[in-house]
Order: sequence, then structure tokens, then C-alpha cells
Amino acid sequence: MPVPNEQIVANGSEALFARAVELMPGGVNSPVRAFRAVGGHPRFVERGRGARVWDADGREYIDCIGSWGPLILGHAHPATVAAIKAQAEFGTAFGAPTRLEVEMAEAIIAFMPSIEMLRMVNSGTEATMAALRLARGVTGRARVIKFEGCYHGHGDSFLVKAGSGAATFGTPDSPGVTEATARDTLTVPFNDLDAVRRTFEQQTGAVAAVIVEPVVGNMGVVAPHAGFLGGLRELCTRAGAVLIFDEVMTGFRVARGGAQERFGVTPDLTTLGKIIGGGLPVGAYGGRRSLMERVSPSGPIYQAGTMSGNPLAIAAGLSALRTIDSDPQFYTRLEALGQMLEDGLTEIITRRKLPCQLARVATMWTLFFTAERVDSWAQASAADTARFARYFQRMLDAGVLLAPSQFEANFLSAAHTPADIAAIVLAADSALEAACA
Ligand code: PMP
Repeated sequence: MPVPNEQIVANGSEALFARAVELMPGGVNSPVRAFRAVGGHPRFVERGRGARVWDADGREYIDCIGSWGPLILGHAHPATVAAIKAQAEFGTAFGAPTRLEVEMAEAIIAFMPSIEMLRMVNSGTEATMAALRLARGVTGRARVIKFEGCYHGHGDSFLVKAGSGAATFGTPDSPGVTEATARDTLTVPFNDLDAVRRTFEQQTGAVAAVIVEPVVGNMGVVAPHAGFLGGLRELCTRAGAVLIFDEVMTGFRVARGGAQERFGVTPDLTTLGKIIGGGLPVGAYGGRRSLMERVSPSGPIYQAGTMSGNPLAIAAGLSALRTIDSDPQFYTRLEALGQMLEDGLTEIITRRKLPCQLARVATMWTLFFTAERVDSWAQASAADTARFARYFQRMLDAGVLLAPSQFEANFLSAAHTPADIAAIVLAADSALEAACA
């Protein structure tokens, strides 16, 4: 959508984007930010506070992106800001161990008891790549089973039938991933336990790991069927394969102890990110001691990082985890907000008889523009992305910033108020009518 010259403000979003596209691929540093799936140009964000962000043209939005998951406390939470400022005064990086890392490891383990030992890294991508290397190193096997539409970061092994931006841009199998790497990645439909069973049968003794988003966020939100995660647990145990729950998105979000607590299934390894960084770049992987002890330098499986356990990021993340823990009602309050949103959107869909499906787990949610229930990538990918784009733009005009793709999750935070939810629902009523007309 071209923007008339008179509307282009110096240092506004359009002017910044015009400069950005000459400097960075697509004008962005992560693909979905570019708005290509919804048309128009991205809004450049100037600042955020609580549940709101303001763009470079001074427009205010209720933010449902929340930095794609990390900001469960909202933007610029006072405790997080104070923790970052205090640590900055003491130094921002040492390349030597710090007390903060010990406290962070203790905090994560207290939230997620399946983790007995962990390693901190700088992103979710690093966490999943390292977890897979560990699984391969421990089992001496090469193959990994992943699910269509799940996204585990941009490591080569995971860019096969991948979700998130890869799905949004129709490149689930990225050029640049060698055939040999892709051969070791076996993809099966999410929620299809029989397909996993058959794959194990065909690959006897070859599968190092099964990696799964226990609640998918990266093809839009898709919940696991009852028994699916437990079935994966059983199949992995029987085959001697490592079960990896990628809880980068779900960790500390769908329950205090993540999806593994919510669904009562214990993985061997867990990958984390987002919330444990409090809005700064962090990831982690951890699990059974017997596995983690194989990581260098206590074991032979190599993995390292100059910025791993960075004091600034760990201070921010630790403050976020402590803030969450200081409120015994934290997840109950978030669930009530999520339920309020679900009730409001479901009422609209029913009253207007719209061909839409609301998927919500805790504070992760997606409105799919399809008449069919969505349990897998085959169903998610049938959604009407043109309708989604119209809905997205109407919501944006009404001051609600959604994830700019049908195949992504939206997030609520503890900073959203019931009034914010009511405003989102009100905006959605006319946006959905217009989108589906
Ligand atoms: N795993 C999951 C489940 C994710 O949602 C993401 C990012 N959205 C990643 C891994 C990759 O994390 P990062 O973008 O920090 O590399």
C-alpha cells in the first residue's frame, strides 16, 4: 500500500522504513516484522510501557505481540528496569561466572523440576541447536523427529517444514539447508501419534530425539490432543530417544512450570528462552543431570558462548521470575484475562456466524480464518490469509497491534487490564465483520 507523500513524517515509520529497506533485508532483522503477510509497512516502535506501545508517528496501540512472548509482565516493568539499571552500574559482561547465574539456575529449577542441570545461552535458536547436539552426542544417533509447522529457531536441522516466518513466507524448507541435513530431520503431523509410531518403526535405532512445541505457537496456537504428549513420552522411552520439549514460548507462560506442568508429562530435555530474559536476549537448555553432565567441560559435547549467562540479561530475567513468583495469583489472573478474551471473541464468532476458530491456551491465542478446527499444519495452512490481513489492518487502525501473520501466536501479559481486553474485543467485532464480508 503506497503512502501519500504528505503523510510521510521525518523519522516516522514510513521514513524509517524507506531507509531500512536499503540497509537490511526486507528492512528488518527478523522476517515476520516486515508486515509482508498483511500488506503495508511495519510500524517502527518508539517506546513501550505496560500493555501499550507507541510508534514513531506517536500512535498508541494495545500490544498483543509482547516481543513475541518474553514480556509476560508488559513493557518496561519497574522491577525489570531497576534490575537492569542496577546491574549496568556494576558492569555488563565479564566472561567469568557470576552469582546471578547461580541464582538464575536455582530459580529455573525451582519452577521446572524436570530440569536438574542447565546451560544458559543467548537465544531460543541456540538452545534448541545445543539440545539436539546433546541428544545426538548422547545417543550416537543422527535423526530427529519434528512436527510440521513447529518452529524451533533457525538452526539448519529445524528449517524443514518449519513454522513461524518460514510458514508465513511459504519457505518451510529453506534453501541453504543441505540435503544431508534435511535427510536427518523427519517430519510428521502434529497431534498424530500413529505417524510418530510408524516413523520410529521405520527408523529403528536411528532416532536421537523427538522435539516438540508442547503447545504450538508457531503455526498459530495449536493445543496438543489429550494423550499426545504422554504418547511421545512413551515412544521415546521405548526407543531410547531423547524427548525435547521446546518451551521457549510456553515456559513460564502456559503454567508456572510450563507445558510440562500443565499437561503432566516430563521431557528429558527442555529448551527455554523469552520470559527468562525479561525482555533481554537469553536462552537455556537443561534436563536430566545424566544428560547435562555430558556437556563440556564436564563432558565431551561441546557448546560455549562469549555472552552466555550475560549479567544484564540474567538480572532482567531473574527479576521477571521473582516478580512472577511474588504473586501467588499470577497465573490465575492471567487465565481470567485469557478467558475474558475467549468469551468475547467466541460471542462475536457465534453471533456473526463467522468461519473462524479461536485457539487459546492460557495467554497464547490465535484467530484462524477457517471453518475447520485446527489441530495440525494441514488445517492451519488452509486458513484464509487474505481475510486475516484485512482483520489485522482493521485492528491496527483501531489501535490494537497483533502478530502480523495468521501463523503466529498473540500474547497477553499481566499488564493487560480487563478494560484492554474489552477494547480488543470491541475492535474485533467490526474488524471481523469487515474481514469476513
Ligand atoms: N523455539 C520456539 C518454540 C520459538 O517460539 C522460538 C522463537 N519464536 C524459538 C525456538 C527461537 O528462539 P529465538 O528467536 O530466540 O532464536
